[in-house]
Amino acid sequence: MTSTWEYAPAPESRDVVDLRSEYGLFIDGDFVEPHGGGTFKTVNPATEEVLAAVGEADAEDVDRAVAAARRAQTEVWGPMSDAERAKYLYRLARVIQERARELAVLETLDNGKPIKESRDVDVPTAAAHYFSYAGWADKLAHAGFGSDPQPLGVAGQIIPWNFPFLMAAWKVAPALATGNTCVLKPAETTPLSALLLAEILQQIDLPPGVVNIVTGAGGTGQALVEHPGLDKIAFTGSTSVGKQIQRALAGRPTKLTLELGGKAANVIFDDAALDQAVEGIVNGIFFNQGHVCCAGSRLLVQESVLEPVMDRLKRRLGTLRIGDPLDKNTDLGAINSAEQLARITELTDSGDAQGAQRWQPECQLPDRGYWFAPTVFTGVSQSHRIAREEIFGPVLSVLTFRTPDEAVTKANNTPYGLSAGVWTEKGSRILWTAERLRAGVVWANTFNRFDPTSPFGGYQESGFGREGGRHGLAPYLAT
Ligand code: NAD
Repeated sequence: MTSTWEYAPAPESRDVVDLRSEYGLFIDGDFVEPHGGGTFKTVNPATEEVLAAVGEADAEDVDRAVAAARRAQTEVWGPMSDAERAKYLYRLARVIQERARELAVLETLDNGKPIKESRDVDVPTAAAHYFSYAGWADKLAHAGFGSDPQPLGVAGQIIPWNFPFLMAAWKVAPALATGNTCVLKPAETTPLSALLLAEILQQIDLPPGVVNIVTGAGGTGQALVEHPGLDKIAFTGSTSVGKQIQRALAGRPTKLTLELGGKAANVIFDDAALDQAVEGIVNGIFFNQGHVCCAGSRLLVQESVLEPVMDRLKRRLGTLRIGDPLDKNTDLGAINSAEQLARITELTDSGDAQGAQRWQPECQLPDRGYWFAPTVFTGVSQSHRIAREEIFGPVLSVLTFRTPDEAVTKANNTPYGLSAGVWTEKGSRILWTAERLRAGVVWANTFNRFDPTSPFGGYQESGFGREGGRHGLAPYLAT
């Protein structure tokens, strides 16, 4: 006889979040009305409830923000001593820790990710980034960039919706630590945690204009990219928009880093500890509903262990809890937007049409909101769209290999090159494989590990430049 445990609801209270009905733009230390008066709505993707109306910045607002950032850089932030800048970053990191619960609940409301991820990953990792770069701020002369490295000036920073608060930290922390000021544009479906960051910046008395936040969609991002007053653009998002930005900056002196998409291979050798590997597979593709640029979306399994791996994987997927993202027991939350759900649906339909076999565990999806059941495709060939294109959802494509050489060839058969995973008991095989995989990050016997001291970034169509660690300072310094 088998028995199943029923989980009682364990929702996190949303009372800790003080949502305003409307938000302005954050320019020169204050919330201001957008010039054109336009707003857009941000919704909770788990319920479709409108959370707030947010200001839509146009080119004039972007110009105001860049001017404020320039003034702050030349008059205040640039001339300030390194140690003083570090104090602001430490203060910011500490206030994030103090307000962690509020930030996590807000992030979950606006993004749809499970509270246990925003609480245990997004917010603490963001705080760790600010702490880490606070530590670098007064040690730049010892970071390997010469004895007196200089900031670039003003950075325009554009981020996606999958880790809104964490991506803001990846951008803002190294920029401020190196003496730059910035204009940040959050994604249009998840602006709220950046606006709470703005409130925190007011709370810590960060000098006005050091960080400016302009909300809006692609048009706002484009206005930022086209602004001639920027010394640097840092972009995280899709490869197609990354290419547009690269074209727009051609011939301009503005420096650029691009963190783009991925289609990572997670390679399971026959000697791997299979139960651990299955946990790594699940974490690799179902963490954050698969809305992860470095997600292990292509599973490469050595043919001799395909059956036990699939059996264990299916059993494990049957235990995932899908639903209310604010429930502390939820493993899989909502898809971030109707558009993203449509994209996942279109790509998975192509998997069916091209002859792959779809498997999904039995699960009840909520009636309202945007949801997609965890999905595994077997019988996938390398030419299938689901093996080539980034789905950015909870969808795993399974391929097999017989020899290590074949595993490497298949893993590298992608225009991307952001991350990869290797599962084997043999240390020598880890090194052999890692040396041959063309990916910015290779995880061994683990997946999706992020550390502020470790550089992250891609090859090929996954972009260029590194964020995190000492390497993450370089793109913000005139080296
Ligand atoms: P997206 O490219 O559509 O949007 C990203 C950001 O760019 C948003 O803020 C958006 O408003 C803005 N934008 C859109 N059009 C623009 C334009 N023409 N000019 C300037 N800005 C513009 O991507 P998305 O759907 O928000 O995010 C998902 C993508 O991001 C995936 O491909 C994912 O792999 C990638 N991503 C990469 C990393 C990384 O570190 N490599 C991290 C997270 C996400």
